Amino acid sequence: MLIVMDSVATAEDIRRVVEAVQSHGLQAHPIPGAQRTAIGITGNRGSVDPGAFENLPGVLEVIPVSAPYKLVSREAKRENTVVSVGDVDVGGERIVIVGGPCAVESEEQAVEIGRRVRAAGGTLYRGGAFKPRTSPYSFQGLGEEGLRILSLVRRETGLPIVTEVLDTDTVDLVAEHADCLQVGARNMQNFSLLKRLGRIRKPVLLKRGMSATIEELLLSAEYLLSEGNYQVMLCERGVRTFADHTRNTLDLSAVPYVQRISHLPILVDPSHGTGKRSKVLPLSRAAVAVGADGLLIEVHNEPDRALSDGPQAILPEMFEELVRQLSRLAPVVGRTV
Ligand code: PEP
Ligand code: MN
Repeated sequence: MLIVMDSVATAEDIRRVVEAVQSHGLQAHPIPGAQRTAIGITGNRGSVDPGAFENLPGVLEVIPVSAPYKLVSREAKRENTVVSVGDVDVGGERIVIVGGPCAVESEEQAVEIGRRVRAAGGTLYRGGAFKPRTSPYSFQGLGEEGLRILSLVRRETGLPIVTEVLDTDTVDLVAEHADCLQVGARNMQNFSLLKRLGRIRKPVLLKRGMSATIEELLLSAEYLLSEGNYQVMLCERGVRTFADHTRNTLDLSAVPYVQRISHLPILVDPSHGTGKRSKVLPLSRAAVAVGADGLLIEVHNEPDRALSDGPQAILPEMFEELVRQLSRLAPVVGRTV
């Protein structure tokens, strides 16, 4: 259920409603909007009696929320959420381009790629220190040393850092170094991790599971918001299908679909979505055309020697061309890069 406050409701009115909700043993989540505040109610097993709240001062209406996700829905908040990653806003007019290697491999590699991403006009830096690998014998990432290198990349380039967190044990450690914590496809339904990340005050980039529906993606995001973290971005990174001409099937229709039912920003990852270097640029153009709020792009200076995901990494000069093309394309859909 959602309590919509009047546009002239005072902070005191809102406080009183929150107290009334809590006195019923429920949780209240005030969601400020440009025109008015809405208060989401969670924690109820069955339906809640609207009569308990609709006559409180400042309450405009009490509406049942039909979707299983509540706080992430447009019913709860009409305006787009803008997430601040360091000094970069995600979800506004500017499309963010996150560039960097799949994995941090060395200081030289990570910093060199960072400089090229920055020079090309990339807005955020990505790079994994803890890598979720299919095989236990594959490179697992540099771990804490990788995080230290990421902090160095931020100092050298000024780019805020997005990096993956694999488990609850390392949340604090990763949060110390990252500006945004990535939850990978394989962890989209790791609910204890999501609950833990819901309690930190850093943005989270939540990637779609490789066989997850949009409803499942939004319900995973709901875990983060219901624990109090509203700084959440979603990411379409392709799903498993029968098609084998690409690594995954990039579901670009997810973008306008999510944007209609949720206020959260959504990025597209054409690198994992296609698994093929030559497909990254065309699918990036398509992602911008379809309305993505940002792109996640794997860039490597020596892709043939990359310790993970080399075949899908683009070279720094290809990244430059990508940013150039997207800057020209973005105005067509009312955005900038
Ligand atoms: C990644 O971004 O490097 C990654 C492992 O992505 P995904 O979780 O989408 O496979
Ligand atoms: Mn990768």
